[in-house]
Amino acid sequence: MSSIETIETLGHYINGRVKDGSVETLDIYNPATGKVVKRLACAAQPQLEEAIVAASLAFGAWRNTPPSRRAQVLFRFKQLLEANIDEICQAITAEHGKVLDDARGELIRGIEVVEYACGISELLKGEHSKNAGPDIDSWSEFQALGIVAGITPFNFPAMVPMWMFPMAIACGNTFILKPSERDPSASLLLAKLFTEAGLPDGVFNVVNGDRRVVELILDDPRIQAVSFVGSTPVAETIYQRASKTYKRVQALGGAKNHAVIMPDADLDNAVNALMGAAYGSCGERCMAISVVVCVGERTADKAVAALASRVKELKIGPGTDIENDMGPLISADALERINAYIEQGLDQGAELIVDGRGLKVEGSEDGYFIGGSLFDEVSETMRIHSDEIFGPILCVMRVENLDQAMSIINRHEYGNGTCIFTRDGAAARYFSDHIQVGMVGVNVALPVPVASQSFGGWKRSLFGDLSIYGPDSIRFYTRRKTMTQKWPAQGDSEGTRFSFPAS
Ligand code: NAD
Repeated sequence: MSSIETIETLGHYINGRVKDGSVETLDIYNPATGKVVKRLACAAQPQLEEAIVAASLAFGAWRNTPPSRRAQVLFRFKQLLEANIDEICQAITAEHGKVLDDARGELIRGIEVVEYACGISELLKGEHSKNAGPDIDSWSEFQALGIVAGITPFNFPAMVPMWMFPMAIACGNTFILKPSERDPSASLLLAKLFTEAGLPDGVFNVVNGDRRVVELILDDPRIQAVSFVGSTPVAETIYQRASKTYKRVQALGGAKNHAVIMPDADLDNAVNALMGAAYGSCGERCMAISVVVCVGERTADKAVAALASRVKELKIGPGTDIENDMGPLISADALERINAYIEQGLDQGAELIVDGRGLKVEGSEDGYFIGGSLFDEVSETMRIHSDEIFGPILCVMRVENLDQAMSIINRHEYGNGTCIFTRDGAAARYFSDHIQVGMVGVNVALPVPVASQSFGGWKRSLFGDLSIYGPDSIRFYTRRKTMTQKWPAQGDSEGTRFSFPAS
């Protein structure tokens, strides 16, 4: 694309069709080239109003649509996603930068949530207590909330929205998605395919923009619930602000995920797994491993040597070439931030074993590329350990025993994911039982729960009570209503009782 005039401007998806946005636009970059590839119209109050009205009008009929019919639409949606996988992945790679295979992985994990949502008839069955009292039956059912909203980050432009809207919609809600302004094309494609699958207009809407439209969403009392995924400072603000209008909120935040390598671990397996977990997607994953805590000096020496040679061999280049292990970072700002962290690590005394700075990729000189970096001798108080860096930097820490490793992890402000590499079942069990982290792997570096479980961290990685997708999402996207019912036999009167009814 040579001139600004030829660049497409993306709008919104409201009431089953594409809508223009407001006058203000943002640039969308291809991180592999550093060039503007599209522009994005930012929604303001009129666009959000249109989406809320559409979602509100669609709600009555959708909530009353039998779950089995909703499942049929979801099933067709799954088939369309599979048929259009290449187009969606290309859109992800063009705006996010990740390698096409990695984009495919995220989309498949999103499709798995749609598959789980296809079981909504079973999942919404409710709970029944026959003979809760004399001639009394009691049951709970789970009713849709109304309009719910989702606000999502840049790093999984298809999967994270799909953690939210398939389950919310399966439960009978209508949905307004505000995707990341940096890579919104995937969400617009998903919306179009959902309509094609037979979803009634207004049930799923996409409004694009930045924090300004998020604030309008948070303050609107017609929106009943908000699912947020993004960085911790924003997650905390979202949680507080949305609660002011008494919304139900789940706000998933940032992370610093530690892997522990025990002296008895299969080091080859551990290093293989850690390479993907630390450097895949350029470290821009909330479950990325960014710290390896080695138990014992010998373990650390061997792990650092093995990791260092592998980090130097990483193939880095545009995500369109599936031979590459890593694409670019998302933005020029991110590149500057990661470079600054490497500088800071050195200033604070960590030992830089592999320095990824200054990488130039031939033919993509203006892309936001950086090599993988590896630090050794990292300590707890260093910023490279305390902060979420969100880039391809792996920090090695050295401790004497498992308890020391666990204390470091438990003291950290984040508690998203962690893992242990060991052959000792008792150590693994002790670790899983006592670690203060929401998702734990044993010889699994990226313990991202499957669609039939739920995803959520502890501590400042999740604000709210319920995790995302899986069984927790049924509870999050519905309100329990409990009925107590008695059909007394003819003439069977109990008379008045003033004592509190008990069974
Ligand atoms: P971000 O917090 O900058 O943005 C997330 C969303 O919030 C975007 O849609 C953005 O437009 C909006 N936003 C940004 N600032 C806002 C503000 N001040 N007020 C209201 N809305 C605002 O996150 P990001 O950079 O897009 O994504 C990376 C972050 O997301 C990392 O911290 C990563 O760990 C986290 N993340 C967490 C999970 C998880 O499951 N816990 C999953 C993926 C990503």
